[in-house]
Amino acid sequence: RPVVAVVGRPNVGKSTLVNRIIGRRAAVVQDVPGVTRDRVSYDARWNGREFVVVDTGGWAPDAQGMAAQIAEQAELAIAAADAVLLVVDATVGVQDVDEAVVRVLRRSRKPVVLAANKVDDQRTEAEAASMWNLGLGQPYPVSALHGRGSGDLLDAVLEALPEAPREAEEVPRGPRRVAIVGKPNVGKSSLLNKLSGQQRAVVDDASGTTVDPVDELVEIGGTTYQFIDTAGIRRRVKEASGHEYYASLRTQGAIERAEVCIVVIDASAPVTEQDLRILTMVEEAGRALVVAFNKWDLTDDERRFYLNREIERDMVQFGWAGHVNMSALTGRHVDRLGVAIEGALAAWETRVPTGKLNAFLGRVVAAHPHPVRSGKQPRILFGTQAQAGPPTFVLFTSGQIEPQYVRFVERRLREDFDFQGTPIHLEVRARE
Ligand code: GDP
Repeated sequence: RPVVAVVGRPNVGKSTLVNRIIGRRAAVVQDVPGVTRDRVSYDARWNGREFVVVDTGGWAPDAQGMAAQIAEQAELAIAAADAVLLVVDATVGVQDVDEAVVRVLRRSRKPVVLAANKVDDQRTEAEAASMWNLGLGQPYPVSALHGRGSGDLLDAVLEALPEAPREAEEVPRGPRRVAIVGKPNVGKSSLLNKLSGQQRAVVDDASGTTVDPVDELVEIGGTTYQFIDTAGIRRRVKEASGHEYYASLRTQGAIERAEVCIVVIDASAPVTEQDLRILTMVEEAGRALVVAFNKWDLTDDERRFYLNREIERDMVQFGWAGHVNMSALTGRHVDRLGVAIEGALAAWETRVPTGKLNAFLGRVVAAHPHPVRSGKQPRILFGTQAQAGPPTFVLFTSGQIEPQYVRFVERRLREDFDFQGTPIHLEVRARE
């Protein structure tokens, strides 16, 4: 969802305008300069388009003390925004502070929409025209208090936002792409046979989905999936030794094309370096992951004991992945793969609303502040999810955040938002 930052110097009516945009009286409104101190984000909707509004509190770029903190917050909000709504007070005309704000906005290169507020009647409308002097193009005269002009303003804001991605339900999405990967002889082709044997794969022309001839449509538990590069598995391309490089390329290619990967591991034999390399490939490609411990029928208590030790010793970094203990031979728990795949994909596609994410960050940071280093307190100020599939978050910080602290936040994110089955990425942008 695109983000609109609302900025302007104190007392121009930002919070009233934000309330007008979100259609309720949620922000604190008081006729006292600087009363909305913290940035607060709200979900808004106009003409069927959803976006996030970030209210930034009164902002003067050259501020000191508390005001300087507000300025810092405002600049962060601008950095994270897709468009900026600058609010000025039409009844007092252009102020020096407004011009300073405009200079900062120019540097940010974000699209800016100019709202000339407090145009409560026809008479003040002429004064709004003087805001052309700011050099930001057409000023939109509005009365946040009475709602006058807010429709045109919102149209302009939507216009300034990046192109809306087409609604998910409008785009007929093809079946989800699944890759079965693993080293030779772990049971990939046996698994594929078992899965497609339950329901013979048909390439359905009528549904308009194009399936690469090396792929197959396979149904599991009523859902159809596109299994990637099944030709490679079925043809049983037995790479002679020395050709492992090509096998690895093929695996890499399948992983890249897939949304979710089933990494098959032979549970009856020790977990090997090659298994771990394939898991790492999936993690680095940012794909959802289900680990299938196959040949379970060949494991006894002793083997399972050692397998658990191997998992604890070598696979901790993949602790987020789902596991299925199965047998392609007997069919044990093969049906559970469907549930595991769905769960992993749902986590992989999760979108955390900006407001919810920042409420979470606020809680975590308050309960476990970053340790103070050389007299300074590095802080996470604001976060936003930049992408889904896999979930990718950008954290805006003041000061250098230590890697351990980033990992700590990542663990808490996983717990709070239940990211089982998907890698997640955290990107940190430190401010000087
Ligand atoms: P791929 O190279 O990964 O495709 O592995 P295959 O599917 O060709 O299987 C390799 C060997 O393991 C074959 O002899 C299979 O019959 C056997 N196999 C596969 N899955 C199982 C299983 O769950 N249990 C047992 N006991 N054998 C299996």
